[in-house]
Amino acid sequence: MNKATNITWHEGSVSREERQKLLNQKGVIVWMTGLSASGKSTIACILEQMLLNNGKSAYRLDGDNIRMGLNKGLGFSAEDRAENIRRIGEVAKLFADSGVIAITSFISPYRKDRDAVRAGCKPGEFIECYINVSLEGAEKRDPKGLYKKARAGEIKGFTGIDDPYEAPEKAELIIDTEALSAADAAKRIYDYLEMNGFLKA
Ligand code: ADP
Repeated sequence: MNKATNITWHEGSVSREERQKLLNQKGVIVWMTGLSASGKSTIACILEQMLLNNGKSAYRLDGDNIRMGLNKGLGFSAEDRAENIRRIGEVAKLFADSGVIAITSFISPYRKDRDAVRAGCKPGEFIECYINVSLEGAEKRDPKGLYKKARAGEIKGFTGIDDPYEAPEKAELIIDTEALSAADAAKRIYDYLEMNGFLKA
């Protein structure tokens, strides 16, 4: 609900197309979703670097970093997770509108929340990348020891253990990180962007 009244959207004179021309690319959201330890952050970092090396402007929005700032008041209840994703979606849309390739790496476990972001985007602006790993595979990696803590009951409501992960049904890309290396996964996404015309204006 909007609490502010008497607000009007102010159109500027510079268009999105002009910003994109300047950068010679198209603004887009690469939305990574998947279990904790599926590889979202690792792949996002490699992808951002690949894009930069090829003269493309990208910006990563990453789970813990956003929770330390913009969303620091939010926890992990279903409502807070939904608000977390809504705000990230809004920020990612601003980046895309500025002509930048926004790469988000959040578990974003609920289909409804992801679909709501997609619904607020222009057609083709939201690329859902399902970073897939089996729960066993994720638990074996467990780089932050979080699964161990969740199994021991020290973390409640952990995705995949005692909170659901709803896999995408219409992801533009499905990346199996037990079959592909992180570098190959990033390359798959890079190639998708290139083939679909996002790396030119
Ligand atoms: P997430 O952001 O999804 O929680 P992270 O990227 O933080 O996941 O952690 C994934 C861990 O799995 C890292 O330690 C990474 O080195 C490791 N890993 C092993 N194989 C892969 C792969 N194919 N793709 C991505 N990460 C991988």
